[in-house]
Amino acid sequence: MTSLKKKILLCLIISFIVLFAHISYKHSSSWSGIPVLNYHQVNDEAHNALTLSSYEFNAQMEYLYQNNYTTISPNQLVDYLQYGTSLPPNPVLITFDDGYEDNYRIAYPILKKYNFKATEFLITDFVGHNGRYLTWKQVKEMGDNGFTFASHTLSHLFLGPATDDEILYQLTKSREAIEWRLNQKVEYLAYPGGAYDQRTIELAKQAGYRAAFTINFGRATTEDKLFNLRRIPIFNSTHTLLRFKLRLKFTQIIIAMQECKVILNDWGLAQISKWIYIP
Ligand SMILES: [Zn+2]
Repeated sequence: MTSLKKKILLCLIISFIVLFAHISYKHSSSWSGIPVLNYHQVNDEAHNALTLSSYEFNAQMEYLYQNNYTTISPNQLVDYLQYGTSLPPNPVLITFDDGYEDNYRIAYPILKKYNFKATEFLITDFVGHNGRYLTWKQVKEMGDNGFTFASHTLSHLFLGPATDDEILYQLTKSREAIEWRLNQKVEYLAYPGGAYDQRTIELAKQAGYRAAFTINFGRATTEDKLFNLRRIPIFNSTHTLLRFKLRLKFTQIIIAMQECKVILNDWGLAQISKWIYIP
């Protein structure tokens, strides 16, 4: 390598370190956020990014258990964010989207083994349908054992492009369906496909919700508005457990790394951006 190339490389490395330090500092105030894990399916039949095997899911729960994490409810999280109510040590909120039957068949016994509870965002028109989704009987049993049930709309409608009337109908009816079946208040929503905007937020408030969860990567923090709560999606991939630990422990560093990648791409440095590994 010529000395000019060495100098250019050194400049690039220093620029990257400065950039990374700057972005990390920018996010430092939200380091204390609460991790909200986002799962979908857990089974040993399907093989896709949104499906964890029972072995992988158990390994993650075992890790949380051995590291003294305490699972909390959305009520506990939102009370903390809104009023500063105290939380148990090492809090984590475990959430499942869509309400798949394997959540009852496979994830639920594993969670019970570690005395953990979780929150299910149900697509209420799909409950009890075609064997792929939870039944109301299963929902009731899990609800009686500390699980929280919340809305993921009636039919997984992407809210961004929908009309006001459609949104209000989907959000109100799905909330009422769960309230009627479980006889408990439903105050939380997860936006299907993570699609939402300011109009959606206003309509969710009108439909009686207290807070809503996105699929934007990050921890739930006091700086976030209650209808923009971030989560940490957990995917099936190579080194699933390692990536789970990194995403859980170093959430803010990963956000800084993601921003660095975007900035480097904007600067036309796509080759260097590729070197940054996002777990
Ligand atoms: Zn969904």
